[in-house]
Amino acid sequence: MSNSKLALFCFGAAWMFILGVVYAQNAPHSAGGPDSVNSAKGADARRQTAKELAKPWGGALGTAPVLRELLGSSIDPQIARVIASIKAIDNHAHPVLPPPHDRGDRGFDALPVDNMEPQTDPVAWRADNPQLPLAWKALWGFAGKAPLDAQGMSQLEAARSRVKAQQGVHYDEWVLDHSGIETMLANRVVTGPGITPPRFRWVAYEDALLFPLDNTALAATTPDKKLFFPLEERIRARYLQDLGLGAIPSTLDEYIANIVVPTLRKQHAKGAVAAKFEIAYLRGFGFSDPSREDAQRIYRKYVGQGTVAAADYQTLQDFLFRVIAAECGRLGMVVHLHCMSGGGSYFGIAGANPLLLEPIFNDPRLRGTKFVLLHGGWPFVREAGALLQKPNVYLDLSQQSLTFPPHTLAGWLREWLETFPDKVLYGTDGYPFSAELGWEESTWIANHNAREALGLALTGMLRDGEISLDRARDIAESVLRRSAEQLYAMR
Ligand SMILES: [Zn+2]
Repeated sequence: MSNSKLALFCFGAAWMFILGVVYAQNAPHSAGGPDSVNSAKGADARRQTAKELAKPWGGALGTAPVLRELLGSSIDPQIARVIASIKAIDNHAHPVLPPPHDRGDRGFDALPVDNMEPQTDPVAWRADNPQLPLAWKALWGFAGKAPLDAQGMSQLEAARSRVKAQQGVHYDEWVLDHSGIETMLANRVVTGPGITPPRFRWVAYEDALLFPLDNTALAATTPDKKLFFPLEERIRARYLQDLGLGAIPSTLDEYIANIVVPTLRKQHAKGAVAAKFEIAYLRGFGFSDPSREDAQRIYRKYVGQGTVAAADYQTLQDFLFRVIAAECGRLGMVVHLHCMSGGGSYFGIAGANPLLLEPIFNDPRLRGTKFVLLHGGWPFVREAGALLQKPNVYLDLSQQSLTFPPHTLAGWLREWLETFPDKVLYGTDGYPFSAELGWEESTWIANHNAREALGLALTGMLRDGEISLDRARDIAESVLRRSAEQLYAMR
């Protein structure tokens, strides 16, 4: 075994040990049942925490079914218990429709592409992710070893199907119950039965509105975009159909008045709390601030025509992005931006640097709009953190909580919590990645990692004398649900 393989193996073994300890402790038992902290200090902590949990904010929220305790060796036991007791609001995920509409559901993403050229998947997305067996066991009672062979896969599918058959249309709620989540923001092209309030809140997609002209030239730039743009055009056609329109109008003013604004209003009326942009998959974040006249001229010149000059088209998109963001602010819809390196081997990582969005955040006309940098901006985590000083900018932990082990995530999470703790939102990005890593497993794993990372970050701050236990509790509640409740006016 080479040194690097040995190091990986040791890391994996240590990681499995930590998870094993945590999960041995997570086996369901009553609040007064056996505890995993075997010291006198731990016993004191248990008594104090029981009292704390009896306080209205803790007791009223109940105990997360999956994570009754989260007592890792290096997490303060009182912080661990508080974090485990809070049912979360998940800022971002892609639940698949429950039975009977689960098979063939493609509404969970605007760009659900299965046949892109291969990328190098991060470890967490691979079939041998060491956390997969823990998720399978916890969710389905299925004891499989990753990676699964064909027989293992059919056993996993059978185990999932049993729960689906039992739960029917309540299956997605069941997944939330087993992942410590009270409310999930469901990022979907359309919602459907079983993904409805109060357990789910809809986040609609808006990128299709940014690209009303001929997209042939853009689609030709990378093999990924060749797949993406036809999907966006299909969504735009659907939006037009919903409005009873067949084609886009000949002037920009009509396009905005008859298509853009009515689509957003319709989504809002149907319960959308946020508007999602996957624009980083389609182009970079650098938005100029063109005049309306320039945008009108470009639209008029190219609408219904052939190939559009790239610079002109970008100017039009820049103008439309501000129009949509401003309307979202008026409607009270939060703007969500995919802000992390993304799937596919052609994703433009440099263009997803959140600092490129600063002119948008510094636009006084857009201060009525709230923005969330989804996925915390990785690899630009410090840039994302610095942007939290803007009064209308937030970030979430979604996807990071799946992709990064808790100790790694806790590093930059701590920095964010030390500076802008009320701007950081819990999130999973539960998504149907593969047959073995479904939206259910990815939600479950990300929930686990996010809570453990939060516990580690707060414990570090507590032990270094930066915060009191009360303050740690307050920050945990803020990250796991209170900031989201306020941002989306859920109370
Ligand atoms: Zn997502």
